[in-house]
Amino acid sequence: MRVILAQPRSFCAGVVRAIDTVERALEFHRAPVYVRHEIVHNRHVVEDLGARGAIFVDELDDVPEGAVTVFSAHGVSRAVENEARERGLQILDATCPLVAKVHEQGRRYAAKGYSVILIGHAGHPEVIGTLGQVPAPVTLVQTLADVAKLPFAGDAPLAYITQTTLGVDDTRGIIEALKQRYPQIVGPDTRDICYATQNRQTAVRELCRHVDVMLIVGSKNSSNTRRLWEIATEVGVRSHQLEDGSEFRTEWVNGAETIGITAGASTPEAMVQDVIATLKRLTGNVSIDVLPGKQERVSFRLPQELV
Ligand code: SF4
Repeated sequence: MRVILAQPRSFCAGVVRAIDTVERALEFHRAPVYVRHEIVHNRHVVEDLGARGAIFVDELDDVPEGAVTVFSAHGVSRAVENEARERGLQILDATCPLVAKVHEQGRRYAAKGYSVILIGHAGHPEVIGTLGQVPAPVTLVQTLADVAKLPFAGDAPLAYITQTTLGVDDTRGIIEALKQRYPQIVGPDTRDICYATQNRQTAVRELCRHVDVMLIVGSKNSSNTRRLWEIATEVGVRSHQLEDGSEFRTEWVNGAETIGITAGASTPEAMVQDVIATLKRLTGNVSIDVLPGKQERVSFRLPQELV
């Protein structure tokens, strides 16, 4: 059996920075360090940091006064920032700089008097944070049907921003529909959408052309991992999402000669290696290749309090 790995896969620069932030905070301040929400959407990462003294909470009410608290890579609303200040928490902000850039775009458009439309998924922590970072009403659009229902006049001053974990391909149709209904609408350059999301989506599409079955490694609550599974499935390749090797089922690869493996931006590479080790153990002789793809050289600086 031949295994082909997607390139790039696993951690992006924003996830590396967020995890490093918690690790450095544990070194600098010692445990416990509180983290609002899962630092990134991966069970193994959360369990590992938890074992080293990070305490994950849903809301700041669960953090003692003055405690060291990390905001997750997904970002938070202004209200959460204010609450943290009022409670005297020592904040380390691990919001991905690319998410912070979307916040800034939204604020800039609102300041210029545009009504802001956010393309994203309701309920995702990043979307909740972005909605709460723009000091004006923001309208969430998730589907083409939502575009058709927008209440704005045909000549209204409008601007759109997008959730980072949607790729250029995901948003293209919605942006086109927005431009058709509102030709005057403005928005950021689509190349501004997260490089890591786009690179992983492009890589999985390419890999689908070479494999019989695709294994997508990552947690169920990771939206970018889920999107990789959706893309592979849409292309028509038998695809399975799994957290690690323990979830692998031999029947998934029955009759397959070539297996593709990729992983979401929040998935540690160790989990990919765990899946490969399981494949080897359960199915015998396996050769490993990597499909050449984009080399990523992006890195983000840690929050300045930790440098
Ligand atoms: S996927 Fe993109 S936006 Fe999200 S943390 Fe990674 S680099 Fe940042």
